[in-house]
Amino acid sequence: MTYDLIIKAGRMVDPAQGIDATLDIAFSDGKVAKVAPAIGDGAMRTVDGTGLLVLPGLIDFHTHVYWGGTSLGVDAEEMAMRSGTTTFVDAGSAGAGNMAGFVKHVIEHSDPRILAFINVSFPGIFGFSKAVMVGENSDLRLLSARECVRVAREFRDTIVGVKARIGFNAGGASGIAPLDIAIEIADELDLPVMAHIDFPPPSRDEVLARLRPGDILTHCFRPFPNAPIDGKRKVRDTIRKAHERGVLFDIGHGYGGFAFEPGKAAMDQGIMPDILSSDVHVLSKDGPAYDILHIMNKFWAVGMSLTEVVRAVTETPAASLRRPELGSLAEGTIGDATLVRLETGTWEYHDVLGAMVTGNQRLALAGTIIGGKLWDKGPQPA
Ligand SMILES: [Zn+2]
Repeated sequence: MTYDLIIKAGRMVDPAQGIDATLDIAFSDGKVAKVAPAIGDGAMRTVDGTGLLVLPGLIDFHTHVYWGGTSLGVDAEEMAMRSGTTTFVDAGSAGAGNMAGFVKHVIEHSDPRILAFINVSFPGIFGFSKAVMVGENSDLRLLSARECVRVAREFRDTIVGVKARIGFNAGGASGIAPLDIAIEIADELDLPVMAHIDFPPPSRDEVLARLRPGDILTHCFRPFPNAPIDGKRKVRDTIRKAHERGVLFDIGHGYGGFAFEPGKAAMDQGIMPDILSSDVHVLSKDGPAYDILHIMNKFWAVGMSLTEVVRAVTETPAASLRRPELGSLAEGTIGDATLVRLETGTWEYHDVLGAMVTGNQRLALAGTIIGGKLWDKGPQPA
């Protein structure tokens, strides 16, 4: 058997399979072909994995990659080159009115996979930049439930859920109404809703009361107001109960979505984020979010274990996406992997309020495998 690629003797960390061990991994026909302690040399290309960690291809569950079509969009391949992301999940950049352009002009040309939550609002996030900031839900005439359902069905291979940004900045005086419409749509499509919260209205409690098991609260550890903790730093009961009944908590870091104080308090009180994501866009890609690898290192520095960090960008988002072929390196799954090197030193991490923590180890990108081949646009392992 000749494989396309073998990574020899790397430390494979695959929480979905409960594996953290030194193994060989072989790829062929775009898939993981074999995982074993020693595979031999029958490959077109062999990479010495000594000193490398081999992770399932990273899934960044909250991004904005409709570059050129929306003012907040960043280039997915540019982000992948520095972060090793193999699947980007766009969080509502496009709505029913411009999803076709996103698919035709961006998604079909991207080497990394792009999946998308469709925005409940027809134009998607159309007015987000340094110069213009107008929320897409501020005029309810922009929301057409039937058109959203029709377009989501047209692009059913791409659409993984419905995004609703509710809050003062995204919806003005619309309050909770866009979320109610999004849930009506998601129920019709049998897909999850991703709900963004910012400044009230609506309050976190109004939002959480509506979310169903499997729906996603993004910006879950945002700072006051609508933080998950009260003034005594105690996790609010509504937050705890929503998490217990299966609402997924997604970080959605961005430039307003994560602060250390509520995040550490919640984690100290046993509420861990289910999914780590960058919410990368034009206002966060050069800090404080940067990219998913930076977010992983940040949460490693604040006390999550390496296994928990990797699970939150592989196994858990893949399950939410209902894509069991992603997020793992089990034989037969899609041949996406991210190669990283463990570095020691001192690094500073900042939240959206400017608070800082330091970490003394980090993962640095060494290579990206997409569809069973080393991606030539990213860094190459030595
Ligand atoms: Zn976002």
